[in-house]
Amino acid sequence: MTVSITGATGFIGKRLVQKLISDDHKVRVLTRSKSKAQVVFPEQNYSGIIIAEEGEWEKCIQGSTAVVNLAGLPISTRWSPEIKRDIKQSRINATSKVVDCINKAPADLRPSVLVSATAVGYYGTSETHSFDETSRSGKDYLSEVCREWEAKAQEVNSDVRLVLIRIGVVLGKDGGALAKMIPLFMAFAGGPLGSGQQWFSWIHLDDVVNLIYESLVNPSYKGVINGTAPNPVRLSEMCTQLGEVIGRPSWLPVPEFAIKAVLGEGASVVLDGQRVLPVRAQELGFSFKYPYVKNALRAIAKEM
Ligand code: NDP
Repeated sequence: MTVSITGATGFIGKRLVQKLISDDHKVRVLTRSKSKAQVVFPEQNYSGIIIAEEGEWEKCIQGSTAVVNLAGLPISTRWSPEIKRDIKQSRINATSKVVDCINKAPADLRPSVLVSATAVGYYGTSETHSFDETSRSGKDYLSEVCREWEAKAQEVNSDVRLVLIRIGVVLGKDGGALAKMIPLFMAFAGGPLGSGQQWFSWIHLDDVVNLIYESLVNPSYKGVINGTAPNPVRLSEMCTQLGEVIGRPSWLPVPEFAIKAVLGEGASVVLDGQRVLPVRAQELGFSFKYPYVKNALRAIAKEM
């Protein structure tokens, strides 16, 4: 296959590109900055990777077998009104560009599948309820972002198979939540954030990449699929397991007011959570390499 990918230079994208290339597929990296992408993929000239800036996306998408859409401004920063606007607009604009390019392509050059990222934030937050793909959307800002992001992807031509993956917190060595948590634990300053009772719906990087890959190649994967491990944990449990695996105590809870002082409204990303279950992935027979957080963390610690 030839797969065009937005956000390919990011945490999930880099691992996805590695997997596709090692399985002998061709990749077109759709980026905002060719020079940045060339640093991320220095091997591009001889490895089946082509790097394309925004003016070249249309040509790349035409003739690709598939498109994966991962682009978006990171959400784990202090939210100002401008940042909130950019968090939403970056996702909607990138998705809109991708969908336009696919829809404009002549039928014989149109990719047959679009796999588009979204997030478990779609469901809102709860300490007591569980959510699956049939659950309704929440009422907070992140739910609204996810609804609009998904709605934009749904504008893709109806002959294109659309898979929307509602991704949980991705655990891997080189990015995402763990890259922020591990240094704190290593400095003996790790512990649950806020009450620790909030749900933490996580997924190992390899599993989310495999889920995207299956969505590309398996025509039964269609519509919304939760990208979370089958065993979510409360944040306090996640912190205890992380402390054990890396041999550091998890004794220093960070109080809610301190997190709010640093992240403002964006603190909701870490202070509130949701218990999201991968019902569709399991119905489809997807096999999770890491169903339990302890095994996932052990595997990541071995890579460090
Ligand atoms: P990263 O933040 O690592 O990378 C996203 C990529 O998006 C960047 O490499 C960049 O690509 C592009 N990007 C960054 N800022 C902007 C912007 N302002 N406008 C347009 N594009 C931008 O993301 P992840 O790999 O962690 O996640 C991929 C997707 O999955 C994201 O949309 C994220 O919201 C979603 N997701 C991730 C989760 C996680 O835990 N990691 C959890 C839930 C959802 P370039 O510079 O090449 O254009």
